[in-house]
Amino acid sequence: MPASRPRIAVVIPVFNEEAVLPELFRRLDAVFAARPGEEWVTVLVNDGCRDGSATLLAARAAAVTGTRVLELSRNFGHQSALAAGFAHAADADAAVALDADLQDPPELIPQLVDAWRGGAEIVLAVRRSRQEGGLRRAGFEAFHALFGRLADLPIERNTGTFGLLGRAAVEAFNSLPEKHRFFPGLRAWIGFRPAEIFYDRQERAAGQPAQTLRRLVRYALDGVFSFSYLPLRLLTYSGVLVGLAGFILGLYYLIKRLINVETAPTGFTTLAILVLFLGGVQLIGIGVLGEYLGRVYDEVKRRPNYIIRRKTGCD
Ligand code: UDP
Ligand code: MG
Repeated sequence: MPASRPRIAVVIPVFNEEAVLPELFRRLDAVFAARPGEEWVTVLVNDGCRDGSATLLAARAAAVTGTRVLELSRNFGHQSALAAGFAHAADADAAVALDADLQDPPELIPQLVDAWRGGAEIVLAVRRSRQEGGLRRAGFEAFHALFGRLADLPIERNTGTFGLLGRAAVEAFNSLPEKHRFFPGLRAWIGFRPAEIFYDRQERAAGQPAQTLRRLVRYALDGVFSFSYLPLRLLTYSGVLVGLAGFILGLYYLIKRLINVETAPTGFTTLAILVLFLGGVQLIGIGVLGEYLGRVYDEVKRRPNYIIRRKTGCD
């Protein structure tokens, strides 16, 4: 049960967002001012910004009480920055994950909070539509369609990081030690009672996407390899299939040989095709194994997800 004036933390990873931060703060302040029934805390994670963001964050921390700034020692990536933010929101009754670029409108936060106050333990913001175009959009759509089929546990489609976790869910999320973090998957994995609200995802307010396409692809692969064994299973199936075909082909050649239909050394084309095909299948197999193995290696190294250089406003 939330306290009479629950504390809500808004966790915002920031990477080179100087162009949007002033507007973000203005809109957040309007939201906070309209909701005096909650105590608002902002956890701003400076994920190794190389522009003027750090100055803006420092100014905000000095001017507005309830502002926490975590400065990471370098750029660790969106997911690690989120992990750092949530780790410093454990004292809140609920925590909201919000992108800095205003693609997730801060004005929806009250709806998230209301759903939580209504009894939900997790609130998911589901994208009814998205503004992005071109390759990014096609990629997102293909990923969501494919991932729904691949994942070993049901993960809500068309959700990103935007949403709210109640305190118990935040604690559960913080207790997950893994390095390759795929937020929507982890959020589904921890369970709890979810509610949904729907929204239209905006174009980013200004600046360039901080997440390059390459990073998004890596993030998508993290989603697949962390939440699905299907690639491995497909390999096993294709191995069985190819093995069976090989056995039948072998039998065919053996019988031909035994009944003396064919004695001359022909069949170079067949051999070449078989060697190349099998070589290809095996290389793909090694690649898929490598994806899992590399992740296992990253996990066993037990390096932390992020390093904090400096904290402001956290007691
Ligand atoms: N971000 C971050 N570290 C990074 C890349 C991004 O903290 O290395 C932040 C970024 O400032 C933004 C959020 O994560 O608040 C989402 O990033 P972006 O808008 O680039 O990603 P997309 O909207 O394409 O998912
Ligand atoms: Mg964005």
